[in-house]
Amino acid sequence: MKRAIYPGSFDPVTYGHIDIIRRAADIFDELQVSVLNNKVKTPLFSVEERVNILKEVTKDIPNVNVASYDGLLVDYCKKNNAGVIIRGLRAITDFEFELQLAQTNRKLGDDVDTVFLTTSLEYAYLSSSTVKEVAGFGGDISKFVPPFIAELTYKKYNIKR
Ligand code: ADP
Repeated sequence: MKRAIYPGSFDPVTYGHIDIIRRAADIFDELQVSVLNNKVKTPLFSVEERVNILKEVTKDIPNVNVASYDGLLVDYCKKNNAGVIIRGLRAITDFEFELQLAQTNRKLGDDVDTVFLTTSLEYAYLSSSTVKEVAGFGGDISKFVPPFIAELTYKKYNIKR
């Protein structure tokens, strides 16, 4: 039984993340998508909101479950019997950071490996920060996130569309 963890901020989850989730769920027996409870960043959505949104978008994928975590990712993986961390790679700019992170995690927990999935081309440009920036100016985010997430995002910025 191969269990993988896909960690991230998911603030909010985009079609790019959803694509990675679907593909990773096809490869592994069980995929846990886990929201990082990062106390340093000020997120748009609370951890609880992000978990609920992720549960909604993954409800049709039986081997996916959603949780949140804080602390060291490798400790969290060990506690949950997961040997694999999933990360998505969009562009070369992601690569250096992700490589360093993967190597650090390998040093911290030598029984956890990172597996990278490259983004599908149609989502290569997409990030949660782009979604927030466009939504904050009242722009159209319908190509970036599912409709109910778009609605929730506009609401955060008090924007009526
Ligand atoms: P963001 O950079 O969007 O704030 P997160 O911290 O939520 O991202 O990212 C979690 C993981 O998902 C990271 O490995 C990130 O590279 C990946 N990811 C984010 N957006 C995309 C995308 N459009 N396509 C593929 N992977 C992505």
